[in-house]
Amino acid sequence: MIKKILIANRGEIACRIMRTCADMGIRSVAVYSSADRDALHTNMADEAVYIGPAPAAESYLVIEKIIQAALDTGVDAIHPGYGFLSENAEFAKAVAKAGLIFIGPPAKAITVMGEKSEAKARMEKAGVPLVPGYHGDNQDPTFLKGFARKIGYPVLIKASAGGGGKGMRVVETPDDFNAALEGAKREAKAAFGNDHVLIEKYLTQPRHVEVQVFGDTHGNYVYLFERDCSLQRRHQKVVEEAPAPHMPDSLRRKMGEAAVDAAKAVKYVGAGTVEFLLNADESFYFMEMNTRLQVEHPVTEEITDTDLVEWQIRVAGGQALPLSQDELEIEGHAIEVRLYAEDPDQGFLPAAGQVQYLSYPEENENLRIESALFESGDGPGDSVSIHYDPMIAKIVTYGESRDEALLYMTEALSQIRITGLKTNLNFLQNIIMHPAFHAAELTTRFIDSHISDLICAEAKPDKVAFDLAAIAAARYGVENRRVPEQPLTSPWDDTSGWRIQGLAPTSVKLEWSDESFVMDVLMHPGESYSVISNLEDDEEDTVLFYRFLPAQDSRTFDVEVEGAEMNVTIVCSDEDIHVLYNGLQRTFKWNNPLRNTRKLEGAAGQLTAPMPGKVVSVKVSPGDKVRKGAPLVILEAMKMEHTITAPQDGTIKAVNANQGDQVNEKLELVSFE
Ligand code: ADP
Repeated sequence: MIKKILIANRGEIACRIMRTCADMGIRSVAVYSSADRDALHTNMADEAVYIGPAPAAESYLVIEKIIQAALDTGVDAIHPGYGFLSENAEFAKAVAKAGLIFIGPPAKAITVMGEKSEAKARMEKAGVPLVPGYHGDNQDPTFLKGFARKIGYPVLIKASAGGGGKGMRVVETPDDFNAALEGAKREAKAAFGNDHVLIEKYLTQPRHVEVQVFGDTHGNYVYLFERDCSLQRRHQKVVEEAPAPHMPDSLRRKMGEAAVDAAKAVKYVGAGTVEFLLNADESFYFMEMNTRLQVEHPVTEEITDTDLVEWQIRVAGGQALPLSQDELEIEGHAIEVRLYAEDPDQGFLPAAGQVQYLSYPEENENLRIESALFESGDGPGDSVSIHYDPMIAKIVTYGESRDEALLYMTEALSQIRITGLKTNLNFLQNIIMHPAFHAAELTTRFIDSHISDLICAEAKPDKVAFDLAAIAAARYGVENRRVPEQPLTSPWDDTSGWRIQGLAPTSVKLEWSDESFVMDVLMHPGESYSVISNLEDDEEDTVLFYRFLPAQDSRTFDVEVEGAEMNVTIVCSDEDIHVLYNGLQRTFKWNNPLRNTRKLEGAAGQLTAPMPGKVVSVKVSPGDKVRKGAPLVILEAMKMEHTITAPQDGTIKAVNANQGDQVNEKLELVSFE
């Protein structure tokens, strides 16, 4: 009997595993790094053990520290979650050696499946269909290039040890082959310490369809149907759903059985996922097997009414699978989106930093939110650390049909309010509302081929948004004649004697998209305001009347506008005012009277590192003329390469970074004339 489990992970997955432990009456032990002292998973566990500094390589990835924590707390088993040590065979062995149960497959299965080349060789033997390609030992560039020519371009170079889309390059023509091979090997070496690659034919319009499998120690196997994870950017999943749309039952069975064959071939035990590429003609090919729980496992749980973590724990404790294949059924449809701290406008560059304001809609039977970030309505927000994955939350909706699940998702996304970090929220909304997504025209090219619809310039805010920002700015000015110790993020936070005298209007200047707008705000008794504005040159002044009623927290209000009521969140920072309502977020620059006393150095004409990282390559020299969008510096951060591009046309004045340098966030990399 497993009575106590150590969870060797952090973030939402650690919390999610703890919830199942609690349901099963099992005690949970968390491990945490110095960055996670106050993290949700640390607080949620029955016990928590400190395991070292923030960088994962010094904490969450150190096998000895985890094992020691497990022995010190007297647990029976260790659950690795996903990421970190979850697919590390040495870890699985070390757990067994310490006399503890590893909640995952046998070490041998991890080793075989963890190496894409080895896995493909094994699957070839077991008769599972493979994408044409080369997965042997010869790594000579000339040989590999010759092979690429043989299978025909485009080809895909993949790191054998790869995962998370790292060390992967699509090559369209022979001319690009050598540079791509170098890049893939460099990234693979940095991320996995192993630069072995394989080559595959690059399929141009496939879907990514994966099958959830489960095995137990009694030789039973089942598949819990499929998930469609075709919506990816940079080969990383963004939206997942189950069941896969347009999936004939016969194909479902065929793929499910192929996945079980793959699992049997490596004597698999526990939860695993067999990933396939599926073509329109129903041909499908094995890509890889993930020997752990997947990020997107909730959609499978939703449609099969199961708890996969519970299954994992039972199987690890020697019990038989709770259900047989005949007892498993699909009911309804589930969709998951991944909310990331990242900037879609800048090539999805991961963002890190402090959340200013965060609020989620309430969970219910059609909506499940898995997040490890605290909601921060009234207080300062949690942080997304540069040391870990920038995922903020998984939003999962369930409906009787796909359309119903989509409707719930549209609604849920429109109710999430987050400021302080760049996120992909708007990008996700655009995907969910896209007609091609509604029609389930799913391929792994979906995001790339619709990118201009998905990342589009923000439309000019309407008058109400301008007015609400102007009211906040006017109040902020009144409230903050003294310098607060903590920057106020809500003008309504402050209780220092603001009197309602509102006789003379307060004039406020706001900027949106390089344009300035001046508005007059009149303050009336009872949190009421009139705003006089003139947002279009040739129009007459308009005046609207607003009345504020406090809602959930100090930054969220029910506002009456000319009789109609709406719910809005207004968050101010030194430079920005964010107005959030109706699923929209509008950001204005403003002339905060306090800004000059607090403003960090930094001006136009400089380009600073967006996050700490290593300079992989410098593409320009002083004196070079560059056009907007030209690559300047390639930075490696969070194990991926990020290209810093020119924000405008200009001439390079100075370059302050050399290849190989470790640079800090905000360091000026390049300056312009
Ligand atoms: P990782 O382990 O890094 O996630 P995978 O092998 O699982 O890498 O592939 C990730 C994604 O890359 C797939 O979901 C698919 O979109 C794309 N991909 C992989 N192999 C091919 C291929 N041969 N042709 C086209 N797309 C591919």
